[in-house]
Amino acid sequence: MRRFSTAFALVSVLIASFSLFAEESDRWFRGNTHTHTLWSDGDDLPESVADWYKRHGYHFLVLSDHNILSRGERWKELRADEALPVLKKAEQRWGKGHVKTRVADGKKQVRLMPLSEVRELLEEPGKFIMIEGVELSSNPSGFAVHSNPLNVSEHLEVHRKTNRSVVEDLTDHERVVHAHEEKTGNPVFWQVNHPNFKFSVTGEMLAGIEGLDGVEIMNSSSKCFNLGDGRRPSLERIWDIANTLRLKRDALPPIYGTATDDTHDYHIGDYVMNSPGTSWVMVNAPELTPNAIAKAMQQGAFYSTTGVILKKLEFDSTRRTLTVVVDEKKGLNYRIEFIGTHKNASLKHEDVEAIVDEKGLPHPVTANYVDERIGMSLKIIDGAKAVYRMTGDELYVRAVVHCDAPPYFKYDAYSDLVQKAWTQPVGWDGN
Ligand SMILES: [Zn+2]
Ligand SMILES: [Zn+2]
Repeated sequence: MRRFSTAFALVSVLIASFSLFAEESDRWFRGNTHTHTLWSDGDDLPESVADWYKRHGYHFLVLSDHNILSRGERWKELRADEALPVLKKAEQRWGKGHVKTRVADGKKQVRLMPLSEVRELLEEPGKFIMIEGVELSSNPSGFAVHSNPLNVSEHLEVHRKTNRSVVEDLTDHERVVHAHEEKTGNPVFWQVNHPNFKFSVTGEMLAGIEGLDGVEIMNSSSKCFNLGDGRRPSLERIWDIANTLRLKRDALPPIYGTATDDTHDYHIGDYVMNSPGTSWVMVNAPELTPNAIAKAMQQGAFYSTTGVILKKLEFDSTRRTLTVVVDEKKGLNYRIEFIGTHKNASLKHEDVEAIVDEKGLPHPVTANYVDERIGMSLKIIDGAKAVYRMTGDELYVRAVVHCDAPPYFKYDAYSDLVQKAWTQPVGWDGN
């Protein structure tokens, strides 16, 4: 996590790292940073979950169960609907007797593997690793403040009293994560999850968390309202507003956008809502280790995707050019869009009245920023390759790659999950 005091000292490192995208020594690693298992409310064993990701070409996986690390001895009673598929799948994959069972209080329980055993079973140096994580989850006053620190090594306890505000809880998560990072000296990439789940977190709130590294701009599980709901903005819009406020008003570095599965359901088929495989990150790092991945993500050396893969992503800090080349799939057409905020964009905004839900709870809404040059479309190229040369007027630039592959599924009443890729904001230090 990047702290305020050191934020701008890191800028030059970040920009330099983008030039490294072209270095052959660095590799691209595919990973999911938000995954549930039976350790909390996911419906499969941790080793079966990790095995799915490994078999599907992922290089790393973060198991992020709610407020719990996969450590120690844990037995769990399976729900009637999960027991059969969980045990059948495990037996087919790992053989009879792999899953330990016992009867406690007349109920059958299964033993959950701790992360150390999952690592032993599945990790292969340079090919596949597990990164320890957790979903810090607090639910103040009917909202949901969930955040994932990636690359932790001990239990982190956040306040879980419900009489607190969303901002108080976000600040509490930040304090806990940062204290852990200071204590261990290991980089921890910290993202706020699904801001539009229960419409809990606004763009202004994200802007205000100084030490935040990332935010989910795509979460392919249910009720996350990635594209807003018609009355409230999309996560991408919220992200641009937060980054504009941070860079222009607060002298803070931008936050990076992640795409995650937030997987819960493993027995309903692949590539459907809540199942694995539709949203992930591609990280450019010198090696496949938890520290290298977390550090690269803190530096913004990654992009997020729901299926579009890039062959080249390079920000040349001397020429001020952002180059995007898609690894094309036959039969698909691509459109590359560059998005950014103009340096002179006004931060003038109209406050939007809170939206009261069916329980009478008012949900604050990200303000309406009237200057169209905030998060504006700067250039659109039809094709699989595009270069954007910065004019000097941009606060930052990022790219989105659209394609015409059929959507995976409709994830809420407002939108389909389509295949896209989002690169991170670059060119924001003014050099
Ligand atoms: Zn969550
Ligand atoms: Zn989750």
